[in-house]
Amino acid sequence: MHVLHLSSSYALPLIAAAKAEEVGITVESCPHFLTLTAEEVPDGATEFKCCPPIREAANQDALWEGLADGTIDCIVSDHSPSTAELKSPDFASAWGGISSLQLGLPAIWTEARRRGRSLEDVVRWMSTAPARLAGLDRKGAIEAGRDADFAVLDPDATFTVDPAELEHRNRVTAYAGKTLHGVVTSTWLRGERIADRGTLAEPTGRLLDRNG
Ligand SMILES: [Zn+2]
Repeated sequence: MHVLHLSSSYALPLIAAAKAEEVGITVESCPHFLTLTAEEVPDGATEFKCCPPIREAANQDALWEGLADGTIDCIVSDHSPSTAELKSPDFASAWGGISSLQLGLPAIWTEARRRGRSLEDVVRWMSTAPARLAGLDRKGAIEAGRDADFAVLDPDATFTVDPAELEHRNRVTAYAGKTLHGVVTSTWLRGERIADRGTLAEPTGRLLDRNG
């Protein structure tokens, strides 16, 4: 059993109890639940609408405790793009989803370092554990025999999120104006540099399955 998009910390004791009984259960949470809070959502700001919803700061503290003690295994993007029109200012009808692919790593790293967690923790939550969960044996670690996929990160550099500079096709974001730590200076896919800061090569990705 895999619990996706864990938002509410109320589920943590149940999950911890199931894990203690060695029930086969894994759990993910997502960057928006771990870095944004209900208290900061402005009226009508449906960029923040997602499903399940972002909850209060105390709930977020409990989710980070769940990561620290292993109740939550991984952090996954839940990248959910939306056009500006679908994000109407009416919370009841607006599209529910947040695009996190480009900003997930710096958003999580910013919050992790504020909470005294290491970059090694972030790598475990965002790379090693998801690769293992998905059965992608060639991903998730720097080791002989695995794909040389790297994000080269300057952990101390900061940037302020400007929606106009996003590479997302739809530049709707709940992270606008946030100053985040962690700038990816280059990206490597199977040993080849495919992106330098500011310059993206032609996409060379391919669909992955458990066999390759
Ligand atoms: Zn989703």
